[in-house]
Amino acid sequence: MPYVYRCRQCRASSPPGPRRDAEVYRQEHRDIEHGGLVPDGEAITRVPGSTPDPDARYVSSAGILGLLALLALASAVFRLLGN
Ligand SMILES: [Zn+2]
Repeated sequence: MPYVYRCRQCRASSPPGPRRDAEVYRQEHRDIEHGGLVPDGEAITRVPGSTPDPDARYVSSAGILGLLALLALASAVFRLLGN
């Protein structure tokens, strides 16, 4: 899930990425732009619209495999019944 570091003082934000990256941007920004101080209004936020769990977007692969197996079985059964 992508995170963005934002500094309201500078109206700056990091590119979306893993939380660790956002924390690195935060530290670098504090050191470079604010002399190591913590600016008011800075925050690390999850990118709006992204899902909390990236895997939740997709149908589970086990479910797909199960469905394919069921279809293969049904196909085999119908072929046997057809003969
Ligand atoms: Zn700043």
